[in-house]
Amino acid sequence: MDKETLHKTFEEIGKIIASHQRFVLMSHVRPDGDAIGSQLALGYSLMAMGKEVFLINEDGIPESLMFLNGVGKVTFPPAEPLDIEVAIALDTATRPRLGERALHAASKAGIWLNIDHHISNPGYGDLNLIDATKPATGQIVYELINALDYPLPEETRDAIYVAVSTDTGSFQYQSTTAETYEMGADLIRRGLDIGKINADTYDNHPYRRLELMRALLNTLNISANGNLAYWELLDETREKLALQPDDSEGLIDMIRAVRGVIVAVFFEELPDGAIRVSMRSKDRSVNVCDVATQFGGGGHALAAGIRMPGPLAEAKPKVIAALEAAMA
Ligand code: 5GP
Ligand code: MN
Repeated sequence: MDKETLHKTFEEIGKIIASHQRFVLMSHVRPDGDAIGSQLALGYSLMAMGKEVFLINEDGIPESLMFLNGVGKVTFPPAEPLDIEVAIALDTATRPRLGERALHAASKAGIWLNIDHHISNPGYGDLNLIDATKPATGQIVYELINALDYPLPEETRDAIYVAVSTDTGSFQYQSTTAETYEMGADLIRRGLDIGKINADTYDNHPYRRLELMRALLNTLNISANGNLAYWELLDETREKLALQPDDSEGLIDMIRAVRGVIVAVFFEELPDGAIRVSMRSKDRSVNVCDVATQFGGGGHALAAGIRMPGPLAEAKPKVIAALEAAMA
């Protein structure tokens, strides 16, 4: 989005927010830091303006994000549709990724806003703020709040930081810009406790995550002359270690970080028999979003995912072959 279109969109969103009172904010299934962080950030800003706000997520809050300031406001979707006027989807590339119960809970909304940074987002809102040049939806929310001169309470400040930190691999990925660091500086000036929030985000893992790492390392494979690394999580391992869905968050970065590796892949058997594929590329010329799209998934050029039919023994060779073709 160019600057002019971006600011026009900010203003249009501002008009919709100003002329309505009741909102539901939602994000994708199996939410990550950017999903929940963006909801909390915009949600607490709207509440500080006196709006009535519901924050819902199909899968609730993962244990790893329970520390977030104000997170208790996010609930599972209620069974009956909420009495709201506007629904705002955050960080969610496709409408179905909001989840069926969440969509039902939001079904009374007369207006849909879609705020996201996924290039594959088709623009399913009545008004779409999709800026794929931003490393995290949290940064878009920060810019929106500033452009409209909205309040930035502590919950919003902390949530924006965690949203952007988690989606940029702690401000490391190529997507991180000068504006991202300027935003970080601004949040610190506004009182963000940088040591505490980073410790809460990154030094706070359950022991079973280490056991999961051990299990994953036992399945590690390197192919394509060392350019492709992958490992897998079997459903029986998940049961044996009593894993939570977010225990594997970020582990793919371990194999991505290996010298020579261009693409890292994480295969995961889900309890329902489907396969989740997580992919990371270190090279712009190998677009993992294109590969994900071939199998009905999506994401970004350097980080993408798929949810596809099992069994693993059939899904894995298909994805590996497509990746090898993309790297050839
Ligand atoms: P992750 O590997 O961290 O789960 O996801 C990486 C990126 O791919 C995220 O931006 C996420 O939104 C996207 N992604 C992951 N799984 C899917 C999927 O099943 N469908 C789509 N459309 N995008 C996905
Ligand atoms: Mn995101």
